[in-house]
Amino acid sequence: MKNELKVKCPQCKKEFSYYQSEFRPFCGHQCKMIDLGGWLSEDYKVAGRDQSVYIEDEEALHKLLVDSNETY
Ligand SMILES: [Zn+2]
Repeated sequence: MKNELKVKCPQCKKEFSYYQSEFRPFCGHQCKMIDLGGWLSEDYKVAGRDQSVYIEDEEALHKLLVDSNETY
């Protein structure tokens, strides 16, 4: 049996058992959503009301927002 394939999540670098994650190659739902950029649009809605939202990659976020709002 080779059910214990250990891989590193491309997002959070955490090691997990590949066959035990529904969201492979990610360790979990959140990492998958981060990769899809889904969390950016969700966070952005919140960011309009809360300036303290933590954005790790401002450039990537900006690009995404410009893409979704048409260019200025
Ligand atoms: Zn992860």
